[in-house]
Amino acid sequence: MTAALVLFAADAAAAEVATAIGPIVGGEDGMVVASSNEAARVGAQILAEGGNAVDAAVAIQFALGVAEPGFSGIGGGGFMMIYDAEDDVVTVVDSRERAPASAEPKMFLNENGEPIPFAERRTLGVAIGVPGALAGAEYARAEFGTRSLADLLAPSIALADHGVIVSRLMAASLVEHQPFLAANPAASALFLPGGKPLKIGQLLVQPELADTLRLIAAEGIDAFYRGPIGEAFVAAVQAAGGGMTMSDLDHYQITVDDPVQGRYGDYEIVTAAPPSSGGLTVLQFLDILERLDIGQYPFDSSLRYHLVMKAMHLAFADRNAYLGDPEFVDIPLTGWLAPKYIQKRAAMVDLTENTCPVPPGAIAGAAPALAPVELMNGDPQTTHVNVADRWGNLVAFTVTIEQHYGTGRLLPGYGFFLNNELTDFDPLPGRPNSPAPDKRPLSSMAPTLVFQGGEPVYVLGSPGGPRIISAVAQVLLDLLEYGLDIEQAIAKPRIYSALCNEKARWESDLPRTVRDELEALGHRFRDKPLEVGDVSVIAVDGGTYVGVADPRRDGVAVGLTRAEDD
Ligand code: GLU
Repeated sequence: MTAALVLFAADAAAAEVATAIGPIVGGEDGMVVASSNEAARVGAQILAEGGNAVDAAVAIQFALGVAEPGFSGIGGGGFMMIYDAEDDVVTVVDSRERAPASAEPKMFLNENGEPIPFAERRTLGVAIGVPGALAGAEYARAEFGTRSLADLLAPSIALADHGVIVSRLMAASLVEHQPFLAANPAASALFLPGGKPLKIGQLLVQPELADTLRLIAAEGIDAFYRGPIGEAFVAAVQAAGGGMTMSDLDHYQITVDDPVQGRYGDYEIVTAAPPSSGGLTVLQFLDILERLDIGQYPFDSSLRYHLVMKAMHLAFADRNAYLGDPEFVDIPLTGWLAPKYIQKRAAMVDLTENTCPVPPGAIAGAAPALAPVELMNGDPQTTHVNVADRWGNLVAFTVTIEQHYGTGRLLPGYGFFLNNELTDFDPLPGRPNSPAPDKRPLSSMAPTLVFQGGEPVYVLGSPGGPRIISAVAQVLLDLLEYGLDIEQAIAKPRIYSALCNEKARWESDLPRTVRDELEALGHRFRDKPLEVGDVSVIAVDGGTYVGVADPRRDGVAVGLTRAEDD
């Protein structure tokens, strides 16, 4: 295990905490894993100063909105899983964006009744959802945290004022999205100064975002939901052709939900509930593979990958047919993992062939929708954070503005991006995930906790749209079935294959021979490799934490251990 040892010297309390930082580190008194170095340090500092895991997760998320402003932020929403160690309870704080009252089922169709192409759809004013990020963060802080909102915003205000160093990931994404960002004067001025994308190592200073966060620190989240930030947001949505009003912001509500739960062997998996499809799809995937006794096939064999792909096709078929916002759609929760149903679905897997099509199953008490839906295939955006504190509290928190840079519209004068979350709706009307006023679009986010014998053992999650499901599920399979350690499980090449007739996504380390053998079974692959998710994990072993950041991004883990004389 390689880790630099650093001490926070700025604060007396913090100086008593030895802190290891790196891609893989251990710690006894706390652990943070986040995709940005700066944001991870913000969380570690909060923990070092005696804050709990929820305080740290909220502060990290604010910091990610500064350090990776194109991936998440206060203009978005997400799912936060909180394990309260004292009460031994897991709670999901759902801050998913909602459609405004003006949303219509056909709002993503053109005059011929066909879906508007995604590249255009994502830029539309009607694609912008009412952000939940601030409401969710504030609820979690007030209910579970110990610090004031202003305290948790302060490090992010400093980062925005003084600047964050442009990372490898941000620099690459700015080059890739240069034409897209160039279309928006505010985004262009910030990210493409002089017409050129900021480069790795340069400083990104965001004075407008700093002022926005300062206003929220001073006036609370009403500065957004009932105040000047919200007024500017609504004006920008309307200028883009959307119908959002201040009344939509005023009416926005998070939900506080029970997680969904499943088992793999003697592990209990606790994960995000609808309107994310992430949890239920991961659980069904794992159940099908357990039923097929996947462990009999070596973890790097083509047959193991074949079963992974087939289980994914089955689970995605049900996801696409049945799942939507539970406030609008009856989710067949009871039948979803029923042993007889899983047995039936697993029996559809042919070991010798990629059978296609894979229809949704007949789940007791529910009627599946018929038409296929499209699944977005952008590259990993979104941010995921894991935190553990010295009291054993755990948080897995995924937040997004949907695609990279959302709609590509940076709110003038306020410095954050307007999400395009409503493109996560099915563009076709009359389906479980069709748009409707106040409805939340189906997500794939899957912040997850794993328990064994009632004790937590893993905290994990990933960005990546529908690939989140595939990435989290494959890492869980390798941890729980194959017994790989977390570093191996994360490093192992992953596949994304949601639909049996689509070319699968594959990662560069996947051996050519495995691909050849899978092609012989009838699978098809994209020409070039592409990453599948970015899974960060904390392993909990009694009093010790091990944090691993996925090398696919620039993430780091920070582990805290109190100095001996403490
Ligand atoms: N909007 C996506 C979802 O909620 C997340 C975007 C991404 O991670 O690529 O599932």
